[in-house]
Amino acid sequence: MIEGLLSLVYPQVCGVCGRVLVEGEEVMCVGCRVLLPLTRFEERPEWNGLTEKLMTLRAPVERTAAYFYYQRQSPYSHLIHRMKYNHLPNIGRKLMREYARTLSERGFFEGIDAVAPVPLSLTKHVMRGYNQSYYLARGVSDEVPIPIIDALKAGRHGTQTRLGASERLANARGIYSARPGGLEGVRHLLLIDDIVTTGATLCACLEAIHQAAPDVKLSVLALASTRLQ
Ligand SMILES: [Zn+2]
Repeated sequence: MIEGLLSLVYPQVCGVCGRVLVEGEEVMCVGCRVLLPLTRFEERPEWNGLTEKLMTLRAPVERTAAYFYYQRQSPYSHLIHRMKYNHLPNIGRKLMREYARTLSERGFFEGIDAVAPVPLSLTKHVMRGYNQSYYLARGVSDEVPIPIIDALKAGRHGTQTRLGASERLANARGIYSARPGGLEGVRHLLLIDDIVTTGATLCACLEAIHQAAPDVKLSVLALASTRLQ
């Protein structure tokens, strides 16, 4: 009821085009939803545009998937922007929940016994107030009963934006480490990220886990991914 009353004052709007949503629409309007640039990576979870970004990875990976393609300036980038910077992490949680439904029907989660979000550095976490990838992990666990664990910690973030691909990876490798004891009892971990661009962050996180616990199988799920160049 509270949600109903709130919607009178603050009507829910489409996260893409900003149009007021009607009953039955969630996160985005029907028009934007039919044009959502789906990756369909889940049709080939062992080899797709995301696994190709992990070519330099020094660890085996089982399955990968991402919901839609991300492109700067595209109207769909508003979804990501709102989720990350406008204090609307539940946009990501809802989107991930609906994608998890599709993935679940395809058996993507089979054998996976824990999900872990890519962590934010303490500075970023304090400034933003939340880790958007944690909300994405919650979206998964809303749909399938897999616990969320805190498997990784992030050290100091240098800025990545002005670095080339190999420098980015070297830089990222120094940032993430596995939490001692954080992977106890885990056999197959699903790492959750928001957007995959170069794949450097994912590689660094997966390698940190693989180093700490080489027997743990690894899979990756992202909300969005840029297209391969
Ligand atoms: Zn719309």
